[in-house]
Amino acid sequence: MPLFIKLVSNLIISSSIILQIWGIGKFLNTKIPKYYWLFFVTIMAFVQFYFLYIWNNYFWRNISLIMLASLAYSMGLKYIITSNISNFAITARCLSVVLFAGICTFLIRGILLIDSPTQFAAEGTPPNVFIFLSLFILGFMQNSCFVLMVSQRMYSELHNIAQMDFLTNLLNRGAMTLKVEEILAINPPKVLSLILLDIDYFKKINDNYGHDVGDLVLQEVARILKSQLHPKDLIGRWGGEEFLIFLPNCTAAMADKRANSLRLEVANTAVYYQSYGHEYINCSISLGVVTTNPINKSLDELIKAADLGLYEAKAKGRNRAEFVVIG
Ligand code: GH3
Ligand code: MG
Ligand code: MG
Repeated sequence: MPLFIKLVSNLIISSSIILQIWGIGKFLNTKIPKYYWLFFVTIMAFVQFYFLYIWNNYFWRNISLIMLASLAYSMGLKYIITSNISNFAITARCLSVVLFAGICTFLIRGILLIDSPTQFAAEGTPPNVFIFLSLFILGFMQNSCFVLMVSQRMYSELHNIAQMDFLTNLLNRGAMTLKVEEILAINPPKVLSLILLDIDYFKKINDNYGHDVGDLVLQEVARILKSQLHPKDLIGRWGGEEFLIFLPNCTAAMADKRANSLRLEVANTAVYYQSYGHEYINCSISLGVVTTNPINKSLDELIKAADLGLYEAKAKGRNRAEFVVIG
């Protein structure tokens, strides 16, 4: 076989390995310096040229390819280990196992080539049979893992988008309902409280300062409310400027304290916005709180009770909480 064909085929093999790993890095949003891999291909071209045209040596030509492939696979492993893969961790781990198996395969080929008479890639010698069989299996597994990793990440991202309220980053109404109903059906707490709250005179904020400032206030109120929650509490945006908070194992006395502390936290936090200068805006919330023990009411009934409390809080002048206890 002409040397030129050998040079080109070895360069195609090494470039495809590099492209594969580069693709994995890009998929994982890893910052890869622009000419990083181009540098590898160039070095590879020189090394292959040397072991073909200057010193035609099959063993060292192969060892240099093995070293490059092992290095590229190690970089792929590093990309996976150092990136944030919590939402597609299982498939990413599978891919890293395949990459590690790839590195082992290349090393075994290197060992098998020592003392082997192999001088040509098409010979049926043990190092060649081993590498071609292994590459066939590894290539298949690598592609499968990559496709699974892509679909797992897409599914997880779609799932998150479907659950989230885009403006406040809280659960949306549908997701909040499903989550609370699931808790009530599968593992209901002994006692629970539910808070339905609404920003006071929000329409005036929109009218006086504009919708963008209104949006900012919504985001800031959401952030304040979220910062006050305990790990098992849930919060969702229930509609326009209304939020629903689910407090498991929260008695009426505890709910009183928590609701009023939320109310004070919102009332005492000035929302910063940029207009002609640096401006601040204050707002308040009204809350309807329902506590139930034992839990023999549906979520709909509990929300209706909280809504009555909220209506009362508004009627009594706003910036206050009203409580309903269902025994
Ligand atoms: P109250 O104290 O009785 O609750 O009065 P309010 O003005 O807060 O209530 P009202 O229901 O009259 O007005 C709510 C306003 O919230 C009307 C609507 O345009 C606005 N709104 C709903 N969703 C959004 C949003 O996502 N962004 C902005 N900026 N405004 C919103
Ligand atoms: Mg309102
Ligand atoms: Mg409202």
